[in-house]
This record gives sequence, structure tokens and C-alpha cells, in this order.
Amino acid sequence: MKNSVIILGSTGSIGVNTLEVISANQDNFSIFALTANSSVENLSSQCKIYKPRYAHVSREEDAKKLSLNLKNMDLNTEVLFGRESLNALVALQEIDTVVCAISGSAGLESSLNAVKSGKKILLANKESLVMCGKLFMDLAKESNATILPIDSEHNALHQCFSSNDEKFVQKIILTASGGPFLKMDLNDFDKITKEQALDHPTWNMGNKISIDSATMMNKGLEIIEAMYLFDLKLSQVDVVIHPQSIVHSMVCYSDGSIISQVSKNDMKIPISYCLGWPERISSCVNLIDLTKSQPLTFENISKERFPCFYLAKEVAAIGESVPTVMNAANEVAVSAFLKNSINFNDIYKIIYETVEKHNKEKIISIEDVFRIDNDSRIKATEILKHYINL
Ligand code: NDP
Ligand code: MG
Repeated sequence: MKNSVIILGSTGSIGVNTLEVISANQDNFSIFALTANSSVENLSSQCKIYKPRYAHVSREEDAKKLSLNLKNMDLNTEVLFGRESLNALVALQEIDTVVCAISGSAGLESSLNAVKSGKKILLANKESLVMCGKLFMDLAKESNATILPIDSEHNALHQCFSSNDEKFVQKIILTASGGPFLKMDLNDFDKITKEQALDHPTWNMGNKISIDSATMMNKGLEIIEAMYLFDLKLSQVDVVIHPQSIVHSMVCYSDGSIISQVSKNDMKIPISYCLGWPERISSCVNLIDLTKSQPLTFENISKERFPCFYLAKEVAAIGESVPTVMNAANEVAVSAFLKNSINFNDIYKIIYETVEKHNKEKIISIEDVFRIDNDSRIKATEILKHYINL
């Protein structure tokens, strides 16, 4: 029997890579449903190739355009739209595997519904764990859902952990490329353009995560992601900059051994690992030739250069509702930077001020998460007004 897959966010960077891996392993997988926000033309082309049972977009007007396109292609794919139908779609019995590849907090609700339905979850959307990691993992335990991380560092850790050795794990080391501004003069940071920030030296990704990588907020989010995924304390999570992006993360054991996963920097590797798990399938990526790679280097992270990273570490230490607030403020600030409304350095200031104004509270329910996320966006948008470029 083929494994039946839904890709949430199929038109994005992770979505497209997932479709490539599935194309190379057609005997094992079938596409049951594809979803996008509003990229109607891309989604139509994907439907033409993969002929899913369902295609979903956020808004009714886009659903109408998509239906028309699919009718012209003579496809039987049923078109759906809206929040409720997405939540119902991910829980359908016919689905075995859910790829959670919507970017940002927009991906939370559908990911949670997939978790509740006890499926195999391929989680790219790290924001879900930052916003409500405890709730998310508790729900997975209850429903018996399997969570496999697509994020390359966490995927590497999943590959390096061995269930026999769990009690001997001392700490983990996440690697970070350092992004496009690792060597830039700090005096030039205020002039950084959107194009420069999007030009990542080693990974080709969606816009939001590319900016997060440039500020290194991404690595801060990944610390929180790792704490929940692998049940670690903050003191057990180290980060080093490794600009070559070849060693994807490491697990340190109590006998002094460090186990790492090493490969080309291609997201098809973690995606194929998750799709095939517990077996291995083709990723279409060749082994890396280590004799031809640059020397591998590791260095610490400068506080002056990457204040967002250190802010995220402080936030991870406080926990409760504070990571949810930081995540919301980061999304507001990144979105404004992408619209050229604020300077690169203002991203940190807006997140810092929003977090500082928040009084920590316990997150008991998913309603708490949505309320705190919404309130924080309103607060961050207020703060942002002081920074808008005229
Ligand atoms: P992209 O921006 O490339 O793609 C995002 C996808 O989500 C698109 O299909 C988009 O649809 C859809 N989407 C966006 N907003 C909404 C919404 N409001 N409702 C429904 N669908 C929506 O992102 P990436 O693929 O880069 O990242 C996806 C997730 O994976 C993120 O959480 C990121 O942190 C994580 N990740 C990504 C990596 C990468 O290499 N790209 C590496 C590690 C983690 P549309 O095309 O219509 O806008
Ligand atoms: Mg990563």
C-alpha cells in the first residue's frame, strides 16, 4: 500500500522539495492533498502533475480561480477553502502522513489538528513548537502521533540519537551557518537591504526563515524547538557557527563522544529521512566528497552582531507565554522589514520592546496561545509605528 500524504504549504520551499522527493519514490507514496495560501497558479501546476484528491487555498476567491483552472485541465481534484475545511482535511482517515510546511504561526492550527488525529507528522513549522511546545508534545503523546523534524539540525539530531543511549546524552550542539552578515562591518547593519538579507550563503529558503537566519533569530527559535522535541534543558543546548553547513548538528554523550550527521546542505535529505523513516529512501542527493569540501570551522556567536539570538536564549530560559510573544513580535517585525518599512536593526528593537512589556503567564489551553499571539501582534504593531521609515 502506498503511503498517503498531505502537504500543508506545498507551494513553498519545503513543499516543493517534498514533492521532488516523492516524485523519486512514486512506488511508496501518493499525494492525497496539497494546500497553499494564495499561489493559485503554482498549486494548479502541482495538481496537474500529482492529481491529488483535494486542493486547498485560504480564500474563497482563490478557490474559484483554482476550480476554474482545474476544470480546464479536466482534473477531478476537489477544491476547498477556509480554516475549518483545512482542519477537517488534515484529520481525514485516508491520510497517513502530514507534512507541516506552512510558514509562521499560520501553520499552528492545522499542525495541531494533524497531531490530534495521531498521524505521522513531518514537522517543518518550528513556530508551532515555539508558540506552544508543551501543549503540542503533550497532544502528540495522547494521540500517539509520531513527530519527525524536517528542520535540518533537528533532523540531524534525530539521526544521531539512539534510543539505547538516551540516558547518557550530556548535551546537543546545534550548528548555524551565521547567515549573510557573519563578516559584514557592524556599522553597515543599518543599511542592510531586503535583497541582501534574503541572499543566504548556504541555504535556499522561504522569505521569513531567510530573514530569521540573517538576524539569527532562527537559531533562537531552534533552541526552543530542540528543547521540546527532545525534552532537553536550556543548559543542554549549545550552538556554534559553522559557515560551511556540512555538519548539521551533534549529540554529545557522557563518555566524551560526539556523534554528528554530515551531508550536503540540501533539504531533500532531511525530508527523505522523515518520509522514509524508519527506513531510508532515495533523496536524489549525492554523498558529499569531503576531500573537495572547504575546511570545516566552528566559532562562537557574537552578542553584538546577533542580539536576536541572545534575546531568544533569555526568552527560552523564562518560558511560559514569553516565547509565544517573541514569536509574534518577530513575525510582525520581519514582515515590516520585508515591506521595506523598517531597518534591519529595528527588528531586534521591536521584538525586545514587545517582550519587555509582557507579563509572563501560564499557557493552559490552545485558546491561550491564540489570544497571546493576537495581543502580542497588536502590541508589536503599536511599537513598530515608532520605527517606520518615512
Ligand atoms: P515558504 O514561504 O517558502 O512557503 C510557505 C508555504 O506556506 C507556502 O505554500 C504558502 O502558500 C503557505 N502559506 C503561507 N501563509 C499561509 C497561510 N496564512 N495559510 C495557509 N498557507 C500559508 O516557507 P518555507 O518552505 O521556507 O518554510 C516553511 C516552514 O518550514 C517554516 O516554518 C520554516 O521555518 C520551516 N523550515 C524551512 C526550511 C527551508 O529550507 N525552507 C528549513 C527548515 C525549516 P503560498 O505559496 O500561497 O503563499
Ligand atoms: Mg534549521
